Amino acid sequence: MKSFEEVADFHGHICPGLALGYRVSVCALKELGERAADEELVAIVENNSCAVDAVQFVTGCTFGKGNLIFRDYGKQVYTFIKRLPGDEGAKAGDGIRISVDWKSPEETDEEKNMWDRYMKGDHSDNVLKVVHTRKSRKIDMILNAGDEELLKVTKGKMNLPEEAKIYPSLRCASCGEKMMELRARVKDGKIVCIPCLEKA
Ligand SMILES: [Zn+2]
Ligand SMILES: [Zn+2]
Repeated sequence: MKSFEEVADFHGHICPGLALGYRVSVCALKELGERAADEELVAIVENNSCAVDAVQFVTGCTFGKGNLIFRDYGKQVYTFIKRLPGDEGAKAGDGIRISVDWKSPEETDEEKNMWDRYMKGDHSDNVLKVVHTRKSRKIDMILNAGDEELLKVTKGKMNLPEEAKIYPSLRCASCGEKMMELRARVKDGKIVCIPCLEKA
């Protein structure tokens, strides 16, 4: 299992979102087994926050491989489904749906006040100190909480999303670059890419 330090290295900084994504990923792998070397595990994420970097790094479900699917619902919900070996055409697999349900601790008046100042652009030493201390405390709490304090988990057979298809390429009549057929558009009777279509 990857450590939180390795995840932080990949992400570039540590933050509560990354810590939550780490806990989600560890919980998913405990249930479903190994990290995905190929596409045997599929992750469906319902937000595009820092947490998703932890999901990609820890579970091996990545944007580039196509086994990380982003549904833009703005929810802290993560579903992982396992494709069994030799069962490539399967429509469903063993899955786990994890909904993050964590309430960060109440802020003190001082913390509220310092956070307001920070958001207004005050990055003086005393403001930064309070903001950073609160952030580290949140990260520690997330990393040390029990699963049941953070995560609502449902397990069972779940439907696999359709596998990514491969489409032929077409060349844009305007910029000359190639694009996937599915993303081609028609403008004034010519086939163009989306950026060229959107150019005034
Ligand atoms: Zn972050
Ligand atoms: Zn173009």
